[in-house]
Parts: sequence; C-alpha cells; structure tokens
Amino acid sequence: MSDFDYDLFVIGGGSGGVRASRIASGEHGAKVGLAEESRMGGTCVIRGCVPKKLMVFASGFPEAMEDARSYGWDVTVRGFDWPRFRTTLEADLDRLEKAYRTTLTNAGVTIHDARATLVDAHTVRLADGQTLRTRHILVATGGRPFVPEIPGAELALTSNEMFHLPSLPKRALVVGGGYIASEFSCILNGLGVEVCQYYRGAQILRGFDDEARGHVATAMAASGITVQCSTDVLRLEKTETGIVAVATDGSSREFDLVMYATGRHPNTEGLGLQGLGVELGRQGQIVVDRYSQTAVPSIFAVGDVTGRVNLTPVAIREGHAFADTVFGGKPTVFDHGLIASAVFTRPELGSVGLSEEAAREQEPIEVYSTAFRPMKTAFAGRADRVMMKLIVSQATRKVMGCHIVAPEAGEMIQLAAIAIGMGATKEDFDRTCAVHPTMAEELVTMRKPVRIA
Ligand code: NDP
Repeated sequence: MSDFDYDLFVIGGGSGGVRASRIASGEHGAKVGLAEESRMGGTCVIRGCVPKKLMVFASGFPEAMEDARSYGWDVTVRGFDWPRFRTTLEADLDRLEKAYRTTLTNAGVTIHDARATLVDAHTVRLADGQTLRTRHILVATGGRPFVPEIPGAELALTSNEMFHLPSLPKRALVVGGGYIASEFSCILNGLGVEVCQYYRGAQILRGFDDEARGHVATAMAASGITVQCSTDVLRLEKTETGIVAVATDGSSREFDLVMYATGRHPNTEGLGLQGLGVELGRQGQIVVDRYSQTAVPSIFAVGDVTGRVNLTPVAIREGHAFADTVFGGKPTVFDHGLIASAVFTRPELGSVGLSEEAAREQEPIEVYSTAFRPMKTAFAGRADRVMMKLIVSQATRKVMGCHIVAPEAGEMIQLAAIAIGMGATKEDFDRTCAVHPTMAEELVTMRKPVRIA
C-alpha cells in the first residue's frame, strides 16, 4: 500500500490548479486533493476576468443607448442601478463557483477548503493542522495586486475591491497604465464616473504596438477620461470630502476613490517554499522549467505564481500540460511564443504577435495599417475610428503581428491568431475573400504597405 494520501496535491483552486487537478484525476486516474483558502475559481472567476467582463458589458450600454436613438429607437434612460447590478453579479459568481466545485468533485478531486502550506517535498499542511503526504505537489496560488509603498497607500483600493463597492464614486483616480488600469478607467467612465488615470510613463499600455496604444489612448480621452501620462502619485491624504492625490506634476486633486493597478505579484509568501530548494525569482515568482517543474522534482508550479505570462488561458494550458506530462505519460510543453490577448478598453485592443517596434528590431518589415469610421457608429454620428494593422516579414512574407483597436477586437483577434499561428503570409490574407460589410474585412483588403522599415 502507498504511504501517500494523494498522487497529486494542488494548492490553489484558480484556473491553472482546477484544470490540472481535473485532468490528472478525471482523465488520468490520479488520486488528487486540492486546497483553496478563498473561493473556488480564483482570480479569473471571482475577482478578475469574469466580473470585469460583466462590468465591461454594463459600461457599454450608455453608448449603445445613445446610438439606438440615432437608429430610430425611442430610448429613455433613467440611470444605472449599481446595487442591482452588483447583486446579479454576485449571484452569477456564486453559480460559477458552484459549477467549478461540481466539476472537480465529479472528476474525483477532493476539495479542502483551507489554506495549505508545504512542509517538505512530499508533505503539505492544512490550516486545520491536518498533514497530508503526496507524491507530487502543484503550486497554483496565483498572484495579488501590488501597491507601491507611498504615504497613504492604505487609502487606495485595488481591483479586488472594485466588484464590491457599496456605491459608485463620483470622481475616481486610476493609477497605472496596464491592462487593469486602462480597463477600469473605461468601465468607470462608461458607468458615469468622472475618471482620471495617472500613468508614470509616456503612453499607456506599454509593450503593445505604439500606434495601437495611441489609438486606444485617444479614444479614451475622447470618451471623457483624463489620461494623464508622465504623472505618478507622491502621496494620498484623507480629507473630510474625499482623498487628495498629490502628484509628481505638482498638482493636488481630490477624488472619492483611488484605485491602484500597478501590477501583480506572485503569491509565494509564507507557503513554506524557503528551505525546500525551490528557486524563487526577484518578485517571488517560482522558477520552473518547460514542464513547469521546479528545482525540487516532486514540486511543480503553473499560472501567475510562476510569472511567465499572466493570463488565464495560459495558466489553463500550463496546468493541462503538467497533468498530461506527469500523469498521462505524454510529455507536453505549452508554447508561450504566440499568445493573443485583448485589453477590454472601449474600444478594445486585440493583439497577437510582434508590435511594429519589436518586429522592426528583428528584421525588415512591411506595415499595413488602416483607421476608419465603422459603419455602425458612423451612422449614429459618432467620430469613433477603428484600427487594423498587420506587420509582415519582408523575407518570408509571414504575418508577424496583428493589432486591432475596435469594438469586439477580442473576438476578432482570436480568429486572426489561428491564421498567424499557422504561419499565414500576407498573400494568404489577401487570398481570403472579404466578409462584407464588416470591420474585419479590412484585414484582407489592405493592398499597399503604409511603411517599409
Ligand atoms: P501590468 O503589468 O499590465 O501594468 C502595470 C502598470 O503599473 C504599468 O503601467 C506599470 O508601469 C505601472 N506600475 C508598476 N509599478 C509601478 C509603480 N511602482 N508606480 C507606478 N506605476 C507602476 O499590470 P496590471 O496590474 O494591469 O495587470 C496584471 C496582469 O494581469 C497583466 O500583466 C495581464 O497579464 C493580466 N491581465 C490581463 C487582462 C486581459 O487579458 N484582458 C486583464 C487584466 C489583467 P510601466 O509600464 O512603466 O512599468
């Protein structure tokens, strides 16, 4: 008889941990236990992608209703009922959490609703004192928002709290220029909040294609968001009427809510990893190899805790590959090379492959780009423009990058990612007959490069 309680013990019931345990148990027959100290589903389901996307939907209605008038509808809007939306949102998250539990239980996974820490390479301890022996350990504890240490930092909220606000603020400051900051600026703006976004660099969404970033920033400003670049907060002070942000540009402005979205750090503190031989990176992330294995052969890690690419679908694929490798007898490496993603600003930014700037560094390229007023909103009298851009290798003709700024860009980039992942050339795009009338048809009708670099 085995002296192990489990073949696999997973710490963390988020996207990566849930997928790994479901496949290891349900498909490969391993005996799996999983510990989650908070709610099942992790950041994505409980305090990230899912509630965020629902808020994105909620925030899009004012514009849609405005447009409806131009299309002949008699629309009367009486305002947004935040508590009502929040109640529905919370019910939906409860439903999803239950679904996650059911799926895992049906797959034969034993769920422990407790914090777990590592004792040694084969032992975990639960918060209730129970000690369990396991052949393998998978750390999938995710990450948490990081707030820089400035005076008054405790006055700031993070994305964690944004879904539970008792009421919506009138004036909000969002600090940061990444995915979360830019998305929440747009959400709050759409819900009727006066939004100011401070970003320390020259342009928000660093790392994305410059032209696309500029396009998003211009659209955000046009929708009424004050996007203030090269500005950071020096300190926050509580006043009778709100929170004053004293900034590097010498200004002091009062807000009702300050939200920090200045990156996320991996959850490795207090896990018991020190002393076991697991290597940690500069920000505390667990260092793993291509198979998500740490320096300790029985300990693996997937998802945000490894700080590779912090996206839900990536954690899922890493978790799946781990289960197939260790329990399915099928060594599987997830390729982090070409990952599409979308920033759910208004309009959205969908991106796959290299930016123009990164591609130019690599080899000679052609740039195909177009910006235009899409039919739907042009009819409604709006000045909104969308952008489609392809970066093409001069040598191989392969499309190296695709960047879309448009409503539903997230949906479009998913499909472009298939073609680009298959190595499609510009001529493959050109050969594809347009779907008319759509915005995306521009991707297959751009004939002449706007730049050769
Ligand atoms: P990001 O890394 O995207 O952005 C962090 C931002 O905060 C950057 O603009 C950064 O500036 C700034 N920043 C960092 N440290 C400081 C500091 N000390 N003072 C002031 N500003 C600072 O992180 P997010 O928090 O937005 O999101 C975390 C991750 O979650 C993302 O990287 C992404 O992988 C994932 N995510 C994905 C989403 C999606 O797919 N739609 C949605 C939400 C999150 P600088 O650029 O100068 O470094």
